[in-house]
Amino acid sequence: MIHISKNKCVGCGLCIEKCASNSIGIFNSIASVNQSDCMQCQSCVAICPQSAIMNVKGSLLVAFGTDDGVNIKTDNHVGMSKYFHIWIYENGEVKYREMRENIKYKEDESKTHGDPGKARATASALESVDVLIGGKFGPNISRLKNKFVCAVVHGNRTITQAVDILKENINEIMEEKCSEEKKGRVLV
Ligand code: SF4
Ligand code: SF4
Repeated sequence: MIHISKNKCVGCGLCIEKCASNSIGIFNSIASVNQSDCMQCQSCVAICPQSAIMNVKGSLLVAFGTDDGVNIKTDNHVGMSKYFHIWIYENGEVKYREMRENIKYKEDESKTHGDPGKARATASALESVDVLIGGKFGPNISRLKNKFVCAVVHGNRTITQAVDILKENINEIMEEKCSEEKKGRVLV
C-alpha cells in the first residue's frame, strides 16, 4: 500500500505529475493517495524529494497500554498498564485482535523505574508484538526500544484515537522497525 507521510510532505506536487492514474491529490498542502485508483506502480516513490512516499508492506502487531480498555494509560509508564490492547496493522487497516493482561505489573511496583526486571516483565506480556504504544515511557525505554518500536502518544487519547495516529505515522514506524539505530519514536 502506498502511504504518504504528512510529517514529511511539503506539497510540491512532483508525485502528481508522475502518477499515470491520477491517484494523488493535494489537500491542505499535503499529498494523499486515492487507494482505490492506485496501481501500485511505485513511480511516485522515487520522485519524492522528501522521501515522504513509501510502499508499506507486511503486517505489524501493535500493543497499546491501557487500564480500562478504552483510554491510553497516561498516569504512569506504559509498563504499569493493567492491560495491553493488541491490534494488527495490515494493508492500511488496523484491526483489534485481543486484550492481554499485564499479570506482572503489580509485583513490579516495588521496583524502581529503570529496573531491568521491569522491562523483562513488560516484554513477557508482549510476545510477537512489533510496536508498543503508550502515553508515557520511563528509563526502560532504552531496553524496550531494542525489542519493540516504542511510540508515545501525547495527551489524553482513547485507543481509537491512537490507532488513527498510528495509521498517520505508519511510514515512520516502519522505518524505525527496519532501522539499525532504534531511537524511540514520538508520535503526536
Ligand atoms: S513529491 Fe513528496 S513532497 Fe512533493 S507532494 Fe508528493 S509526497 Fe509531497
Ligand atoms: S504507486 Fe503509481 S499509481 Fe499509485 S500513487 Fe504512486 S504513481 Fe500513482
